[in-house]
Amino acid sequence: MATPTIFDNDSDVCRNYPCSPCLKNDKKEQESTKYCMDCKEHFCTTCEQAHGRFTQFRDHVITKPTIVSKDLVYRKDLKGVRKNDKKLDAMGFCCITSGETRYTLLSDYQNDQFDLVSTIGMPGHPYALCEITSISAVAVTISNTTKLLLLDVSSDGNATIKQEIEVPFACRGITYVPQEFVDCLVIVSGGDPSGRDKNEKGKIDIYSIDASGADVKLVQVREELITLDNTTHQLFPRNVAINNAKDSILITGAQLGVIKMKGKQSITKSSVFNSKFAKTTRGICVNDKDEVFVTGLATKNVLKFASDGTLIGEIVNESHGLVIPLSLHYDNVRNLLLIGSARHDCSFLYVNL
Ligand SMILES: [Zn+2]
Ligand SMILES: [Zn+2]
Repeated sequence: MATPTIFDNDSDVCRNYPCSPCLKNDKKEQESTKYCMDCKEHFCTTCEQAHGRFTQFRDHVITKPTIVSKDLVYRKDLKGVRKNDKKLDAMGFCCITSGETRYTLLSDYQNDQFDLVSTIGMPGHPYALCEITSISAVAVTISNTTKLLLLDVSSDGNATIKQEIEVPFACRGITYVPQEFVDCLVIVSGGDPSGRDKNEKGKIDIYSIDASGADVKLVQVREELITLDNTTHQLFPRNVAINNAKDSILITGAQLGVIKMKGKQSITKSSVFNSKFAKTTRGICVNDKDEVFVTGLATKNVLKFASDGTLIGEIVNESHGLVIPLSLHYDNVRNLLLIGSARHDCSFLYVNL
């Protein structure tokens, strides 16, 4: 019923990033070796040294030039694929192979639908999704409800609801953790000051899932208040990811940024990846090198961190046409980073990493 693959060649213009001052002042294309996160400019070695000599620039954050070249960022237009031309509210992505084809599923929050190859109605606002590899299904949370759906994707790309599960807590972000003895789903919930239950604490809920997918049981709940610099913060988790070693849970919090929780260790200052360059963090994903990608909704960018929380740099920003980035997904089969925006035109971005 639809196109088997969504990634075609609708590419943007190619432009790499030479040193900005050299280009502006001398009309010279000089290779850049550094990037200033504050000035949002690329520098060659000479110009970076000159920039560092000014007192007012001294505390600027300099990284490697990590902004991806525009010829690696593509826009996928979903007009004609979706049933309506309403703005897209891309809350989450998931990629799954069915038959010979790699499919991308996208949750379209405002339109209560899944889009792409097939569009299916949802019993509420679909929020996050993840592949459950053990049963070749896709799990979807319905925003701030206790509904969890399992979807099947057929080899011709049609998604159907296979099962609807009631869970004890209203859900937002979700991720799947395959384990040797028991498969788990990690779902974040609560902590929303404007939510239905204002007193419900932010939580990380761990569910076991059996081999058929029919039996989903709550096995552990982790509630946490975070005290940083003598201030106690309520956890308001949005999305969740897991590292490659599967010993740390990474969540995006409403005010705090990325919080990394390792085992049962309590959260300290070093567990928080805080950066003034990522405000209102929402989407999160981890690549196969354990690098952490995060969207800053207010800062309109995607940042990359090392697994210990060191900022590597900004990789995508407004210059690539990023609007209000909400969601992120890393597809390790195609080495693609999928970025969805809020209330945006009928498209999303993907980056060939
Ligand atoms: Zn220069
Ligand atoms: Zn600067």
